[in-house]
Amino acid sequence: MLCYEGGMKPLSRRKLLTSSLGLGVLAAPLVSRGAGAAIARVDAAVVGAGIAGLTAAGALQAAGLSVLVLEARERIGGRVLTESETFGFPFEQGATLLRGGTRNPLARYAAGAGLGLSSDASPATLLGPGGAVGPGETTLWRRARGAVESAVADARRKSRDGPVVTREMTDPQVDLLRLQYGLELGASPERASAIDLAARIRTDPDTGARVEAGFSAIPAALAAGLPVWLDTAVGRIEWGGGDVVIDTSRGSVRTTRVVIAVPLANLARGPVAFFPILPEWKRQAIDGLMTGISERLTLSFSQNVFGEARGERIYQRVRHGAQSDTWHAIRLNPMGRAMASEDLAGDAARQAVAIGGDAAGWAMVDRLAAQFGGAVRHYYQGAHLTAWHRDPWSLGSTSYAPIGGHRLRVRLAEPVARRLYFAGEACSVAWAGQTAGAYEAGREAAAAILR
Ligand SMILES: Cc1cc2nc3c(=O)[nH]c(=O)nc-3n(C[C@H](O)[C@H](O)[C@H](O)COP(=O)(O)OP(=O)(O)OC[C@H]3O[C@@H](n4cnc5c(N)ncnc54)[C@H](O)[C@@H]3O)c2cc1C
Repeated sequence: MLCYEGGMKPLSRRKLLTSSLGLGVLAAPLVSRGAGAAIARVDAAVVGAGIAGLTAAGALQAAGLSVLVLEARERIGGRVLTESETFGFPFEQGATLLRGGTRNPLARYAAGAGLGLSSDASPATLLGPGGAVGPGETTLWRRARGAVESAVADARRKSRDGPVVTREMTDPQVDLLRLQYGLELGASPERASAIDLAARIRTDPDTGARVEAGFSAIPAALAAGLPVWLDTAVGRIEWGGGDVVIDTSRGSVRTTRVVIAVPLANLARGPVAFFPILPEWKRQAIDGLMTGISERLTLSFSQNVFGEARGERIYQRVRHGAQSDTWHAIRLNPMGRAMASEDLAGDAARQAVAIGGDAAGWAMVDRLAAQFGGAVRHYYQGAHLTAWHRDPWSLGSTSYAPIGGHRLRVRLAEPVARRLYFAGEACSVAWAGQTAGAYEAGREAAAAILR
């Protein structure tokens, strides 16, 4: 049974959620927003309208339970965001690729929901200061990458954890490996568990499938028909008495089971507070896992300045002095638009956000102009820089396990007292950090409630 009190009725925002993505035929979620006290009682409540929360809510509703999704932001999707207002056409600010082909459960869901997927399978090209690097350098890089991947696979096989990229590796390509795996983690790979990363690098991090209508079409499809309260931040969850009582910025919700599908960093640093406090083993899992920082800097141009490119990734090596090079991971013309986007991780991401999108944008223009010529500067229109790590509802990009911490995800996913269920990318072992992990964790949380 789902009941609302306090004069609030769910209302359809079909147009808002679907028109910018060209999803006119999709059913919309039943979205309610606004101020004023509201009270609801449902069979199961879900905190967070990202992929994990929406997946869990959909499965529970399909099984006949009344559900209510509580979302702090004024939109669904969480770390999935296809945004059209900044440049007047869509671009991805968060998740971009579904990796692993048909093994990816979310890719299978998207295909089943009728969303077009297009393969993004071209290998990355290495570019040095003088243009394309020679085949020797590419081969060296591939070998270095192969060595890391087999070391990671070996660590998993022997259950002997260690770092992904060690400081002892002195090959010049190791800087590029640091960037690549750093982007996976949002942190220096020296700190990360090789066993944890093993699952994530089963597939080439550079290739996968794009959602043609934009990645936000996936949460829009998952949310169809679900009651969602937007602008509703959960502050306190009381789970010690008869009912679970969830205090939100709009009122309280009573239930017997709650799926907590907020990012790991939000569990670690608030504002959700549990009464009674969570058991020690759960706190250890929350505090033991880490959250990385990855940001995306996107430039738009008034016309295409990259020729035939359509989303291909390049790794650009930029020389700063006699000894100092930096590598930059860039996509040219993503989504077939006159754009370039750069993914930044760790300190580089933090620094870019500190100087701001304008300054970071011009620095990227200079790097690209040195490689592709003056047209880059001439047709440059503007930049957008994400700030996921400053966003109070994500506080970072994705989770990673520190060395020795690869088992913490299993604990993070375990329910507490058949009342509190946990979902989100951080709960997934097989697809940690990815949208597929959020999807699987959402399904598993729902299955655990229904068992
Ligand atoms: C820059 C970037 C690039 C990425 N690229 C890829 C990629 O190419 N492929 C891929 O598969 N994955 C990628 N990811 C990772 C992917 O976006 C995430 O793994 C996935 O979206 C996480 O989903 P989730 O449901 O676990 O969490 P989220 O999407 O973060 O959803 C959690 C929800 O909880 C809400 N919330 C938080 N606190 C509260 C509260 N107190 N009360 C109510 N609601 C709350 C949040 O607003 C949010 O909507 C990328 C991530 C980033 C940041």
